[in-house]
Amino acid sequence: MRASLIGPRVLLRRLREVMAEPISPQDRLDKIVVLIASNMVTEVCSIYVLRSDNLLELYATEGLKREAVHLTNLCVGEGLVGTIAADAHPLNLSEAQSHPAFAYRPETGEDQFHSFLGVPILRAGRTLGVLVVQNKTQRSYNEEEVEALQTTAMVLAEMIAAGELEEIGKTGVDLDLLRPVALEGASFAEGIGLGHVVLHDPRVVVTDLIAEDSEHERTRLDEAINNLRLSVDRLLDDSKIAGSGEHRAILEAYRMFAHDRGWVRRIREALDAGLTAEAAVERVQNDTRARMMRSMDPYLRERLHDLDDLANRLLRELVGRPHGHSAGNMHRDAVIVARNMGAAELLDYQHGSVRGLILEEGAPTSHVAIVARSLGIPTVGQAENATALVEDGDAIIVDGDAGTVHLRPAADVEAAYAEKVRFRAKRQEEYQQLISQPAQTLDGAIVDLLMNAGLLVDLPNVEASGAVGIGLFRTELQFMVASRFPRMTEQRNFYAQVLDAAGSRPVTFRSIDVGGDKVLPFLRTSPEENPAMGWRAIRISLDRPSLLRTQVRALLHAAARRDLRLMFPMLTEVEEFDQARELVEAEIRHLTKFGHVVPKSLKLGAMVEVPSLVFQIDELLQRVDFISIGSNDLMQFFMAVDRGNTRVANRYDTLSVPFLRLLRQIARKADEYNVPVTLCGEIAGRPLDALALLAIGYTKLSMTPASIGPIKSMVRAVDLEDLKKTISPLIGVSDDLSDVRTELAAYAKAHRIPI
Ligand code: PEP
Ligand code: MG
Repeated sequence: MRASLIGPRVLLRRLREVMAEPISPQDRLDKIVVLIASNMVTEVCSIYVLRSDNLLELYATEGLKREAVHLTNLCVGEGLVGTIAADAHPLNLSEAQSHPAFAYRPETGEDQFHSFLGVPILRAGRTLGVLVVQNKTQRSYNEEEVEALQTTAMVLAEMIAAGELEEIGKTGVDLDLLRPVALEGASFAEGIGLGHVVLHDPRVVVTDLIAEDSEHERTRLDEAINNLRLSVDRLLDDSKIAGSGEHRAILEAYRMFAHDRGWVRRIREALDAGLTAEAAVERVQNDTRARMMRSMDPYLRERLHDLDDLANRLLRELVGRPHGHSAGNMHRDAVIVARNMGAAELLDYQHGSVRGLILEEGAPTSHVAIVARSLGIPTVGQAENATALVEDGDAIIVDGDAGTVHLRPAADVEAAYAEKVRFRAKRQEEYQQLISQPAQTLDGAIVDLLMNAGLLVDLPNVEASGAVGIGLFRTELQFMVASRFPRMTEQRNFYAQVLDAAGSRPVTFRSIDVGGDKVLPFLRTSPEENPAMGWRAIRISLDRPSLLRTQVRALLHAAARRDLRLMFPMLTEVEEFDQARELVEAEIRHLTKFGHVVPKSLKLGAMVEVPSLVFQIDELLQRVDFISIGSNDLMQFFMAVDRGNTRVANRYDTLSVPFLRLLRQIARKADEYNVPVTLCGEIAGRPLDALALLAIGYTKLSMTPASIGPIKSMVRAVDLEDLKKTISPLIGVSDDLSDVRTELAAYAKAHRIPI
């Protein structure tokens, strides 16, 4: 067949010449269709481009009626062209008209053509258009011709992505590539961020598609594959990086793909068609991505991410760019978009220039979400497919309140958000003025507003937020961002810095709370079916006392001559508190014996996070100096809802009568025993929830620093006695359980309480 005689290589070379000619985009497209048709010996060649209104518009044709250009269009899913766009898969038919999807458009005059070959124009897995060739005879296009047409489609994808075709559409409708997209995800950290996309793992954009010297390209590819395999092997050998568990499994998958003969063979074949090594990798990845994205199998879709990462690594080998993101030189209004990342990676970015974070995966209690929250970075997680839909530099809005993302927002959406940001800034200013004011209710009750912290970056917030202390210091965060177990002296210095920053304000440290989703890469644990209820927190500390002992020693040293407050997480039985206290006392005896200075005062507390502890509350309150309610976990175990699973995490209301009754019972008991009680879960920082907490007797709340302003302005508008009188009956026994949230919102509205 003549097509293969001339070959795709010649076609690509000619295409390159046409691409370089100083002619208009329409003339260029017109030349391209003629070139393809003559090269592939077809009577028709047509290019359809996907518009933002989901129509595929005919942009150029050789062989169909010229009048149809910019007039004919098909919906995605309609006709053969629409089917190719919807499936992102080629159609090769010797008799097009007998295909069930065939849709005849009289203006094109295509009824005389029988055979049909169409391929999607793809970029990063997205369909930008469709390229079609047709013949009058009932011929069947061979594999090489399908390959050649797909390769040509890549050149067109670059033309579309480069913005060349924007101006030649006749209808004024934007191309799909520029379409605003709204993505639904989950709220991981509140706030609104407007900015521009920075891909955490930037895609290498291949612009040099056509090879000058194929032999040279083959050598480059072989070298790059070799380097890639070596680098993956090195990562796996480095136990510090590979660790165990999930991270290791991903690297194992990388290794499997890197050695996969089929993958490498397909890249080599694409190279034989005349592409550069980079373009060959991209071509194969485009096909794989399109194929795998159609698969419903979640395992396969998950592996697609791995294969994408690996292809990107290979591209970086080819262009000689180091791995990793471009944290150093990014715009000042960066919105980082990533598949997922660790807390440490987020901390690598220049804090001041990150306006938002978007993750395809993760859970609101994953450590990167906790760190984002403490840095005040609006974050949306579980935004499916986000990395494939964005281009570096795209305008984007992160709505961390609603859990939505607006990519390339329309002008009115952007204006509405800009207004929202201005409104928030105004409120922040108002909160700023409240910093030196007490959190005092209208009838004179003082509420202690404390902050949650866990990293050095949190410390300036002690001053800036107006918190009266740190009510929860999550010590495990320091362990989680470290690459190895922090030594005793490192821990001591760190805790001393925390105490220095807090000055005269009290700090409540919590002993290390790992397990569940808080994984330490260097602590070997075996996989568990229900990690949230597994070997975690105090259970690990008591089973591995040397870990807790080192931490306690570091705290005792850091707090020498000062006050030390320490509490233990996830206690299930009071005996666990006794054991932990015994360990602390033994450590004090040990230090005193060797002449070390110990803290001026020591207060030991218990976190109430497991419902069983509420049924030992009398025994508990007789032993402890204070208690702190971890309402995130208490709710999780009380209602049997996995707090990290967005499907169920918000299914039951934190203001439901049973949960409020539970919380009220704890507060009453603490009052009876005269033991101070703080609540430090996320609800403490939500104004309406916090209003309910005030109503049932809580006056010490610990929250993310950004919430202190809003909560203080709420507190200052409340008449506490009146609130109690109104809310109490709602929680009492009645025929119907009340909708406390609605009633409380109405109360707040009627009494002008800002929530
Ligand atoms: C809680 O469970 O409410 C809590 C404050 O602890 P963490 O969120 O760290 O588990
Ligand atoms: Mg907890």
